[in-house]
Amino acid sequence: MQAAVVPTLGAKLEIQQLPVPEPGPGQVLVRMEASGLCHTDIHAAHGDWPVKPTAPFIPGHEGVGVIEALGPGASVHRVGQRVAIAWLGSACGTCSYCLSGWETLCESQQNSGYSVNGAYAEYAVADDRYVVTVPDAVSSFDAAPLTCAGVTTYKAVKVSNLRPGETAVIVGIGGLGHLALQYAKIFGGRVIAVDLEDAKLDLARQLGADEVVNARTTDPVEAIRALGGADVAISLAVSPRAFEQAYGSLRRGGRLVCVALPADDAMTVPIFDTVLSGKSIIGSIVGTRKDLQEVFDLHAAGRTEVIAQPRKLIEVNDCFEEVLSGRVPARLVFQF
Ligand code: NAD
Ligand code: ZN
Ligand code: ZN
Repeated sequence: MQAAVVPTLGAKLEIQQLPVPEPGPGQVLVRMEASGLCHTDIHAAHGDWPVKPTAPFIPGHEGVGVIEALGPGASVHRVGQRVAIAWLGSACGTCSYCLSGWETLCESQQNSGYSVNGAYAEYAVADDRYVVTVPDAVSSFDAAPLTCAGVTTYKAVKVSNLRPGETAVIVGIGGLGHLALQYAKIFGGRVIAVDLEDAKLDLARQLGADEVVNARTTDPVEAIRALGGADVAISLAVSPRAFEQAYGSLRRGGRLVCVALPADDAMTVPIFDTVLSGKSIIGSIVGTRKDLQEVFDLHAAGRTEVIAQPRKLIEVNDCFEEVLSGRVPARLVFQF
C-alpha cells in the first residue's frame, strides 16, 4: 500500500510502499477513502509538542473508509461498514474518565497518527470499539474533516456553555474554525470571526458569522470590545498572542476555551482581571465517540457545511506548506 511516512521528526514526509497491515485482536482493517489534513499532523511531523511521537510513523486522524477485514474477536462492526478513525484511537474503557464520559482524558489512550500509525495511507488498522460508523447521508469526503475539526469544535462549544444570544468569538477560521462558527450559530450564539486573512473572513461571512475582524489590520481586542465583548472566545489560531487577544476580548463572566496547540507553549494572563471579572480558562481536547456521532447526525440533517479541497497523498509536503501559508480555504482532504 502507499503511505506517507514521517521518517524522522522535522524531515519531509516520504511516500513509501508498505505491506497492508494485519488487523490484530479487536482491530479492524480499513481501506481509506478520504483522509483529512489537520494542523496537528504538521505539529506531529515537526515534533512541536512536549510529548513527541516516535519516528518513523504514519500521521493522520481524520481517516474515513470501509472495513475490509476483522481481527480476532472484533465484534462491534462488520465488513463493508464505513467508519471514521479519529484522534482517540483507543482508551482503557475502565478508568474513572472512561466511565464518566471523559474517555478523551483517559491516561491509557492511544492516538491515531501519533502514538499509533494513522490514516495517511491506503489502509490502516484501528480499534473496533473506537472507530465510529459514518451515516450513509454523509460522504467520506465530508466525514473526514468532521472526524477531528468537527468533533473538536463541537465539543469546545459544548464546554464553553454558550447560551442563546451570547456572543462567541472564533479566533482562527481554518479547518477547525470554519466548523466552530457553525456550531456556535447552532447553539444560538452571535458569532464574531477573527483571522489574519480576508479570504478566510469572507468564508466566515458566507457560513453565517455576524461580524468579522481582521487581526492583521485591526486590534482585535478593541474591535471586539467595541462590539460588546465576548461571552465565549474559542482559540483555534496557532499563536500564543492570539490566545492572549482572545482572553482580552472577554466580557465579565466570559469563558476562554483553549484548543489550538502552538509549539510556543505559554501565554500570559492577568490574575487580577481573571478574579475580579470572574473569567474562566478552559482546555478542550477533541471529543468522544458520542460527540462524533452527534456531529455526523447534524451534518446528515443538513445543519453544517464542510469546506474542503481534494488532494492526492503524494502531494502531502506541498499540502503542509499550503496550510502553513494560510492559503487553504478551510481543509485539505486526501482522496484515495
Ligand atoms: P489551520 O491552519 O487550518 O487554521 C488556523 C487558522 O488560524 C488559519 O486560518 C490562520 O489564518 C489563522 N490564524 C493564524 N494566526 C492567527 C492570529 N494571530 N489571529 C487569528 N487567526 C490566526 O489549523 P487547524 O487544523 O484548524 O488547527 C488549529 C490548531 O488546533 C492546531 O494547533 C491544531 O494542532 C489544534 N488542534 C487541537 C485539537 C484539540 O483537541 N485541542 C484538535 C485538533 C486540532
Ligand atoms: Zn486533528
Ligand atoms: Zn480510561
